[in-house]
Amino acid sequence: MDNKEQKHTDVNTLGEFGLIERLTSDVGTHHDTTVKGIGDDAAVLKYGSEHLVVSTDLLVEGIHFDLIYSPLKHLGYKAIVVNLSDIYAMNATPQQVTVSVAISSKYSIEAMEELYAGIKEACRRYDVDLVGGDTTSSPKGMTISVTAIGKVDKDKITYRSGAKKGDIVCVSGDLGSAYLGLQILEREKQLYLSNPGIQPDLEDQQYVLERQLKPEARKDMIAYFEKDKLVPTAMMDISDGLASDLMHICKASDVGAYLEEAKIPINQQAQMLAIKFQLDPITTALNGGEDYELLFTIDEKDLEKIRYMPSTYIIGEITDKEDGIKLHTSGGNIHPLKAQGWTHFSE
Ligand code: ADP
Ligand code: MG
Repeated sequence: MDNKEQKHTDVNTLGEFGLIERLTSDVGTHHDTTVKGIGDDAAVLKYGSEHLVVSTDLLVEGIHFDLIYSPLKHLGYKAIVVNLSDIYAMNATPQQVTVSVAISSKYSIEAMEELYAGIKEACRRYDVDLVGGDTTSSPKGMTISVTAIGKVDKDKITYRSGAKKGDIVCVSGDLGSAYLGLQILEREKQLYLSNPGIQPDLEDQQYVLERQLKPEARKDMIAYFEKDKLVPTAMMDISDGLASDLMHICKASDVGAYLEEAKIPINQQAQMLAIKFQLDPITTALNGGEDYELLFTIDEKDLEKIRYMPSTYIIGEITDKEDGIKLHTSGGNIHPLKAQGWTHFSE
């Protein structure tokens, strides 16, 4: 390391994905045990006949969660679930997790027990072993890092890169609700801060609040695929938003795609709330993050298999790369799809 003056370029100029690319584009892999490195929902490793998938995520107080409205138990649960979601996105079955936390002195033992009650509940529910981690102090707030490890048969791994022209684009559930849940919580927080005596008005909002505070990973979808002997050609979980995540699949697969607006599932309560917030429901479905549904593509010949599969919605089709990524609107227009995925740096 030398000490010469370094240029200072704001990380916001690149955004999250641009920064990852900048830092890792020259990172290769050198072991034959590394099947897939950076660039998918999880890395894929091969030891003997078994393939392992590994994924890690970091949650930072004030960026990814706010303890004013996120109960610690829910936070612990969510920290595990969002990682398992990345394992399921590879069509794999999670087996173990490690959990590392950095906490400031404002956290009590009781508070940490609450966090761990949620972590343990998720481990039970998803049948994974908590096998390690690290605990350290932090000057301010809390940071949680979870690593999840899963296993999968080699021929069943679903990368982002396997979509091809003519494949059908599917999603496992409704979109936009988690984002609307967050809008409500943010609004209530502002009201509370200006008048702590106020009672929150959360009537008719349970569904979207639960989607934000206590999401579930789609373990059941992996079981349906197994039962129907279906292997999606590509898959990822929707953490940043449908538009942004479809773009990841298209980029990795070197294809284009179109989505049909009318077919994108939106929960009725979410639809009404979007309108109340003067948001376009379809925009929240395309760009709202954190729904943790699975976005996957299947070969045309497997159409019959998904027609009756529970919670599977056909929302579009894969096209040639030259055709771009488009939205066919309910009104009959065609627009290029825009993604405004979450750039956490600017939050
Ligand atoms: P996801 O939203 O599915 O968690 P990300 O967008 O966070 O995926 O990451 C995309 C890819 O980049 C993954 O393969 C991830 O492991 C890798 N990645 C993210 N951050 C880093 C980093 N700081 N160093 C190396 N690889 C990273
Ligand atoms: Mg993912």
